[in-house]
Amino acid sequence: MGSFNLCLNANFLGAWSDRILAVTENIQPTVKEEVEAEIDTLLDIYRRSQLSPFFVLYVRKGCDSPSVAMLTSQSVWNNRSVKAFILQHNIPVPTGEFNDTSVRVPKSSLLCASRGCNCLKQHMEKLDKKLILHILVEEKQDGRDTVLRSVFAKDDQYKDQKDYSVFHLPKSQMQFLTTFNSRRIDTVGDLRMHV
Ligand SMILES: [Zn+2]
Repeated sequence: MGSFNLCLNANFLGAWSDRILAVTENIQPTVKEEVEAEIDTLLDIYRRSQLSPFFVLYVRKGCDSPSVAMLTSQSVWNNRSVKAFILQHNIPVPTGEFNDTSVRVPKSSLLCASRGCNCLKQHMEKLDKKLILHILVEEKQDGRDTVLRSVFAKDDQYKDQKDYSVFHLPKSQMQFLTTFNSRRIDTVGDLRMHV
């Protein structure tokens, strides 16, 4: 194992293959650091873009389902954290249901971005950037330009709700969850995954 780190690169077995994570316990801190650096870089790029809002998947210790937060142009950025709207699952998620990404996004009239405000609307909360394991943004090439777009989709089934819209990850994007789960295992340990 001694020099195994030296041959780690993105093409070797695929950076997130189960095999790497399973057989080389001693490289996990390195993988974690790589994930954090990559997320940090991407967050910075998306923050500077005009894309608003966009969504991130993050982990919370003691919760084995992906949690979702919404970042907007009014999010306040710090070195280690960002202020974001924390979103609730549309339907309470049973323990072990890893792949439920259906969340309620309150209508904008029910959200408040003011700091230190006591009104009854929902306010932003501090989210540690290290807990963010995936950014739900797609980069597409449009001629010379790279276009960013959110990959979260509105669920029309709930379009008559007055107070919120329901957003979820489209089936076509579900492969993200595999990546997310590898990263999650590396960050908070292995939890049950029902697919
Ligand atoms: Zn307020």
